[in-house]
Amino acid sequence: MLFSNINGINKKKIVLLIHNNPDGDALGSSLALFFYLRKLEHDVDLISPTEYSESFQWLPGSEDIIVFSDNTQSIVQQKIIESDYIFLIDFNNLSRINKIKNFFLYSKAKKILIDHHPFPFFFDFMFSDPTAAATSILVFRFISDMNNLDKIDKKIATCLYVGLMTDTGFFRFPSVTSETHFIAGKLIEKGIDIDYIYDHLQEKYNENRLKLLSKALKKLKVIQKYRTAYTSIKASDMKKNSYKQGDTEGIITYGLGIKNIIFSVFFFEEKEKYPIKISFRSKGDFDVNMFARKHFRGGGHKNAAGGILEKSLSEAIEYFLNIIPNYDKTLMFSI
Ligand code: 5GP
Ligand code: MN
Repeated sequence: MLFSNINGINKKKIVLLIHNNPDGDALGSSLALFFYLRKLEHDVDLISPTEYSESFQWLPGSEDIIVFSDNTQSIVQQKIIESDYIFLIDFNNLSRINKIKNFFLYSKAKKILIDHHPFPFFFDFMFSDPTAAATSILVFRFISDMNNLDKIDKKIATCLYVGLMTDTGFFRFPSVTSETHFIAGKLIEKGIDIDYIYDHLQEKYNENRLKLLSKALKKLKVIQKYRTAYTSIKASDMKKNSYKQGDTEGIITYGLGIKNIIFSVFFFEEKEKYPIKISFRSKGDFDVNMFARKHFRGGGHKNAAGGILEKSLSEAIEYFLNIIPNYDKTLMFSI
């Protein structure tokens, strides 16, 4: 039903929604869908609840993304209320679209979820697979299931490849399967320039970003007993280094690079005072999704999750340090 409606001759109004602080997979998978649905001649808009990292501003189509703000609020509201279909891409928790949630709940549009996070909510149509390494894989399957792989051009392939690359840590996480590489291969056949993509994702850092990284590395603490590393960044450091969305991306991975460490945590004072944003990464079977859900009003995946706390930075760290001994056995014996 959905496929015949979308493949049919009637032009539909379609809104694509992604989560706040969108990452490479949210942006890549949604931009790919954006181009694909436009090729089917629909009226498509892509809306982000917040700004996104400078390192993604080269992505094809990124200039067409409507970023929610006081200035765009009424247009976002109108688009959502008037749409026939709304796709929720790379998230399944409505708290991740901030104020847009209020418009979304009013809309009579059919709602379609394309996402790889665990515990999906039910929408009108679901393309959910928590075992998929990236939402971009689900978008590829979506296009494939409609027998439209020939519609994937270099632009669409580039966007999907960015999603695959970023959500698999450059094809190295345990979530990578032969399908991940099969799809990557199909995308390469469309003529994407891997060197260009890599260069634009990794090698265009501004100086401030490296200074923030150095701050965080100086503060890195290791608790060998719990095989845990954590660090933080204060709002004043962000200000000093003219923080821009995305500048703290990747900081958390350094902790996991230490021998024997399987749990890395990053506290991030995004605004003066509250709330504190916390990122979690793990290796092996220590489930940070459950950890973030239980203690930090958050969620994510088994090895990558996030959450928030209405506390000051030092209180948040103290809160964390009080919880962690409860997990001593799990952390010590985790493989
Ligand atoms: P990051 O640490 O890069 O912000 O997020 C890692 C993963 O955790 C994301 O892909 C997302 O799945 C999840 N995540 C991050 N922050 C939150 C949050 O506040 N709530 C929920 N439910 N998931 C989050
Ligand atoms: Mn994402």
